[in-house]
Amino acid sequence: MRKTSFLIASVALLVLGLAPFYAGNSYYIHMLGTIMIYAILLFGLDIVVGYTGQVSLGHAGLFGVGSYTAGVLFLKLAAPLWVIIPASVAVTAGFGALLALPALRVSGPYLAMVTLAFGTIIQILINEMDFLTEGPMGITLHKPELVGIKLTDNGVYWLIFAMMVISLLLVDRILRSQLGRAFEALRGSPVASDCMGVSVYRYKVYAFVISAGFAGLAGCLYAYSEQYISPNTYNFELTVLFLLAVIMGGRKTRSGALLGAAIIVILPKLLDDLELFRIVATSLAVMIAVGGAIGIARKMTTPRAMAIPVVGTLALAGFSFWLDSITDWRLSIFGLMILFVVYYLQDGIVGFVRGLFFSKRMPTSLGEVALVDASRDAIKMAGNTGHIEPGQDLLSAKGVLMQFGGLKAINQVDLFVKRGTIHGLIGPNGSGKSTMMNVLTGIYVPTAGNIEFAGRSVVGRTSSDIAVSGIARTFQNVQLFGEMTALQNVQVGLHHTFASNIVDVALHTPRYKREEAASVQRGLDLVNFVGLGDLVQEEARNLPYGKQRLLEIARALALDPQLLLLDEPAAGLTAPDIKDLIAIIRKIRDHGITVILIEHHMDVVMGVCDAVSVLDFGQKIAEGKPADVQADPKVIEAYLGGTAA
Ligand code: ADP
Ligand code: MG
Repeated sequence: MRKTSFLIASVALLVLGLAPFYAGNSYYIHMLGTIMIYAILLFGLDIVVGYTGQVSLGHAGLFGVGSYTAGVLFLKLAAPLWVIIPASVAVTAGFGALLALPALRVSGPYLAMVTLAFGTIIQILINEMDFLTEGPMGITLHKPELVGIKLTDNGVYWLIFAMMVISLLLVDRILRSQLGRAFEALRGSPVASDCMGVSVYRYKVYAFVISAGFAGLAGCLYAYSEQYISPNTYNFELTVLFLLAVIMGGRKTRSGALLGAAIIVILPKLLDDLELFRIVATSLAVMIAVGGAIGIARKMTTPRAMAIPVVGTLALAGFSFWLDSITDWRLSIFGLMILFVVYYLQDGIVGFVRGLFFSKRMPTSLGEVALVDASRDAIKMAGNTGHIEPGQDLLSAKGVLMQFGGLKAINQVDLFVKRGTIHGLIGPNGSGKSTMMNVLTGIYVPTAGNIEFAGRSVVGRTSSDIAVSGIARTFQNVQLFGEMTALQNVQVGLHHTFASNIVDVALHTPRYKREEAASVQRGLDLVNFVGLGDLVQEEARNLPYGKQRLLEIARALALDPQLLLLDEPAAGLTAPDIKDLIAIIRKIRDHGITVILIEHHMDVVMGVCDAVSVLDFGQKIAEGKPADVQADPKVIEAYLGGTAA
């Protein structure tokens, strides 16, 4: 699969690169150049939209910043190409950091509004700052010089082509690295990202900055390609078009970005010409009908689901032959086609085609790594030294109060957990157990109280900081990164093992290669450790519920924690799975990792815990050895007269 796509991509790029030799017409060359420029921008936009799952309507503005950095440097300083390109990237990346600020505070529709405002402000600034930008007059540029030679039309085309190929490789490397996994994790579950030591805050900013860098490069090339820039270009329509291109082409694919760029450049032009429109409408109808037939034959879709798309495209084709003139209908048809794609092909065109012909996800390349090697010990591999010094408190929480409005979800609770033990935390529903965990991992800041972990206060630190310092957790309602494979989920937990930066990733330095290989190996060991060895390449969302819980444990272990918090790990598990789970928890403890276990299954609690604390209505009502706690009248009463105990 990897090899085939590489081959297809290389051939396609070769065809594109040689276009000036066969296209004949400079109009088409210019159009192809524009498509590639937009594709560069879409590679970057896809990082924000497809991977981190944020909306940006500010990218036309960033595109404008890139163009005008080039334009102004050319006009005022007559700067050469090799200065202008990096300057455009750098300046626009800076603006990307500005655009990231709202994304840190708001999301969804609010973020869309704020980024839209950002784009509008940029356009207004370009218009108003005429001492710098020449205002509505615009700036005229000349073709650039490269090593003293003025580039021809074809020269500019090849410059764009080279930049597009470099961007493609760069984006691909970034997205396959720990950085890409961090971006994707944000979309899957921000709270889990933070608790795996991947700071949501930091990676949102990175995503916007990198994305803006590509927008800046695209803008700069656009200025050279058009040789004239004016504020009107960078408007609301363009920004919506960019977003549509990502969605139509298919998010999380580079071919989707190229296809999306081609659609937004070519489609409006096609719709100028009735003959061409008839051809497009007819081929679309044929494609959908054939695609649908394949889909139905492969049982990937039902006749019912395909009925409306097939009838719709056939109707569009019929309509095209009924029309005498297209001019009045142009915009409506364009709108309808977009609506159709967005509604029916939610994975975009590339996603749809891939779904028909290939398995959905490109697997991580496993290289020489042995898939299942039972002799390896995942946790020891982790380099955990297992500091078991019994009697010492690893965690001491004193007088913890967590108030939500008038509700004291945790009320003056003390909790001392000894190193190397399994400490049970039990209590009826709503007694504050999960809240305690959220307080310990920095998701909530306690209203009052002290929490010390390994001699350092936890209160007020960020979740990702706490996670890296040695507290890992699972979640009561599973928080996996659904679209990532089991292995990639665990690799997100291994993020802290990477010292490589974006330069290492871009150049594939030995350091990056070593770290990536090590993370694959350790990821596999950990997935095997929880017994999911044959599911490493499966997307997390496709795993059965019980296996998802086990995968969460593997991911948590990847942090190399001293303390592991498990929030109802046995919930929803079958009896044999629970037995495996108990064995896994014991093994974890035997490796010197301290465990806090929240659990409703009393047999699990009684079977593995060294000590148990009982919460009821936010207060600690009992504590001690499992058997003593079980016999405590207060505990029996809390559990409805002892039926649960
Ligand atoms: P448990 O895990 O023991 O079942 P929780 O810790 O989830 O209980 O909840 C304890 C109490 O705190 C419940 O009454 C719950 O409604 C309340 N609670 C938890 N989180 C919040 C929150 N973010 N805002 C308001 N109330 C909350
Ligand atoms: Mg709970």
